[in-house]
Amino acid sequence: MTKQQYSPVIWLNGDYVKIKKGNIPIMTHALHYGSSVYEGIRVYNHKPFKLAEHIQRLLHSAEQLHLKALYKHDVLEEAVLGVVARNDLDYAYIRPIAWRGDETPRIDGRICTSHWGIIGWPSFIEQQREKRKQGLSLDINPTWRKAPAGCTPHTAKASGLYTVATIARLDAEDRGFDDTVLLDTHDNVTEASTANIFFIKNNELYTPIADCFLNGITRQTVLVLAAKLGIICHECKIPVSTLGDYQTAFITGTAVEVTPIRELSHGDRLYSYDAHNHLLHKLCESYEQATKQ
Ligand code: PMP
Repeated sequence: MTKQQYSPVIWLNGDYVKIKKGNIPIMTHALHYGSSVYEGIRVYNHKPFKLAEHIQRLLHSAEQLHLKALYKHDVLEEAVLGVVARNDLDYAYIRPIAWRGDETPRIDGRICTSHWGIIGWPSFIEQQREKRKQGLSLDINPTWRKAPAGCTPHTAKASGLYTVATIARLDAEDRGFDDTVLLDTHDNVTEASTANIFFIKNNELYTPIADCFLNGITRQTVLVLAAKLGIICHECKIPVSTLGDYQTAFITGTAVEVTPIRELSHGDRLYSYDAHNHLLHKLCESYEQATKQ
């Protein structure tokens, strides 16, 4: 479905309106200073997956940016359900967003109003699912790094934090890769542009400690599912020099779900991974099952 064909009803500051009313003024603080926070929620069979967790994170992100929470948790949950129902979305991607308004160009934006909106798209990501199952080809670009803990509000899903990931992703795509993986300043693996990363070695699961990047809701779900399946999980530092030790790798996120990595490039090294590993297969299956409940 193209943008022209789809004219959704969005939720904006408490009301359901046609998307045309969602245009924002050019002096909007969020546009100039990145003072917005958002969520990405998937809808499976009319039901938003992990809705409470996403709304909780949205409110946490807003608090981190000193953005006034105009709506309570249950109001926002209700509004997501309202957008799903009003647009008759069965499989979809929902994006709640909150931002500082246009009252001043001053950096603090203290006097700016806060705005809250929710948009829903029919699921365009489904189309990429088949390609994803074959495994992605990712690039590690040492130029762009994840900032150390304490340098960014990394527990917030804040728009301003995406600048580096966007540049690294564009660089990776320009060089023929599907996505990028960022290292921290000590050469440890952190995450992909908008997804967390896992590895498998000798039937055990390894994932970087989320100490300077977003601890994704899918990441947390996969850790719970793995524990239920009796898979031993290690949250630990993963130095880039050890990437050759792993047999399988995959990324997790609301949009990509559980997606295998076929290969990971780092300078003149290319690591190949088994996209058909049986544990990965089990995790994909149990994740899919979870989305159906
Ligand atoms: N890291 C970043 C930077 C992301 O944007 C996302 C997507 N929200 C993730 C990780 C995965 O998070 P989740 O599983 O909550 O979608």
